[in-house]
Amino acid sequence: MDVLFSVAVSRNSDGPRSSAVGWDFEVFGFPFLRTTAKTVGFTSSDLREDLTCAICCDLFREPVMLSCMHHFCKSCISRYWRGAHGPVTCPQCRKEFSSKQFQTNYLVAAMVEKVRATTSRAHIKNLEKELKESLEMYRQRKEDVFKNICKDKDNMNIIKRVGSDLQARVKGEFRALHQILQDEETCLLEQLRREQEEELEKTRRHLEDSEAAMRELENNLRVLEQFNLAMEDLTPAQLPQLRPCVQVDVALDFDTKAFSSKYWAPLQYITWRRMFSSLKQGPSPLTFDVETAHPSIHVSRDRTAAVECDVMTPYTSHGKRFLQCVNILAAQGFQSGQHYWEVEVGSSPKWDLGVASEAVDRHTRIKLSPESGYWTLRLRNGNEYSAGTQPWTRLQLRSAPQRLGVYLDCDERRVSFYDAADMSLLYSFSNGPRGKAFPFFSPCISGSRNKAQPIKLLHYPAAPLSA
Ligand SMILES: [Zn+2]
Ligand SMILES: [Zn+2]
Repeated sequence: MDVLFSVAVSRNSDGPRSSAVGWDFEVFGFPFLRTTAKTVGFTSSDLREDLTCAICCDLFREPVMLSCMHHFCKSCISRYWRGAHGPVTCPQCRKEFSSKQFQTNYLVAAMVEKVRATTSRAHIKNLEKELKESLEMYRQRKEDVFKNICKDKDNMNIIKRVGSDLQARVKGEFRALHQILQDEETCLLEQLRREQEEELEKTRRHLEDSEAAMRELENNLRVLEQFNLAMEDLTPAQLPQLRPCVQVDVALDFDTKAFSSKYWAPLQYITWRRMFSSLKQGPSPLTFDVETAHPSIHVSRDRTAAVECDVMTPYTSHGKRFLQCVNILAAQGFQSGQHYWEVEVGSSPKWDLGVASEAVDRHTRIKLSPESGYWTLRLRNGNEYSAGTQPWTRLQLRSAPQRLGVYLDCDERRVSFYDAADMSLLYSFSNGPRGKAFPFFSPCISGSRNKAQPIKLLHYPAAPLSA
């Protein structure tokens, strides 16, 4: 096998290489001569030729150098000069020497050994193996990098697609809000226009009546004035017949204040209240389902507060009721659309809340996780917040939320938790429930040291606007 070396070397094309020059390069462990600023390419067979004895035509064995600087195997030149008496000659350049003198060239000997080693079958086989492995490695790496490139390109497409989907979604949500506002504005302006028209109409009628009365009065006045003129000539028995005049109410000042009072109002707040009730994902006014309550849970009369008590309430046992864990569900279940609700946990040091599948087994003790039909957030020891995965996912929250928002998107199968104070996202499950699910709560067992604190379902606005 020819290996191409492309290095800067000094080569004497017709003479042997001088051993006096320094070695400068090493390729495959083989040293090369210092350059004289000429760059050439040559192969190991060139080198092998240079290190071949002109007598035996094989690589030098114990190379020796004559004064003419030609090299031969020590045995070859000895054999060549054997029997010669007196002067001897160089078999290559025929230069005469007075005696059989040569010098062992260890450097060339070392070089020959290296060339012999690097051109041996074992070495070449080894080299081929290394090359094969290298090729294999680089092909594999190239394939890996190619996969990376494809993956990156795919990811970029996904990011662009998801981004534009989300943009469309955000725009849609705002369009809906704008529409609500637009409708409210149109409605209010229409009402104002109607009221204005009514007032104008009323005044216009009064004006017409007044003008009619004016015409009657002018007419009667004319009759009376003519009568007055006639009086100078003769005295009639009675006044002329006059047409009855329409009685017109006195025109009052227009009550600007009364007319505008409805519009000099906290219009933005009123509109916001109206908007609130039109929100697609506005807070659902949940109530607790007492039928599901663990006997240790007491529910307020209005079914918006649940608290854990030492004393169990008498209960009827059925499939809906939690009997092992201190849990309760809301009465409202959801299986399509988007729903949001808010829960007040106050400063209670311990609670679980979220969403439970309708199908959960309520009579056995189960670890809360999506696998067992629960998507929950939990608090333990007053400051250890976790998402109810298996194992739990600890959450580092900036503050201790007292009001929590839960968002259930049945269509996208998402359950997300928010700090309702600033609507910052605390955790989101993307593998939400299939089928019907209910808002889920557990005030947990408070223990004797802590006073049990209720979980409250919040309703917004406090007094909803009636349509
Ligand atoms: Zn030889
Ligand atoms: Zn010579």
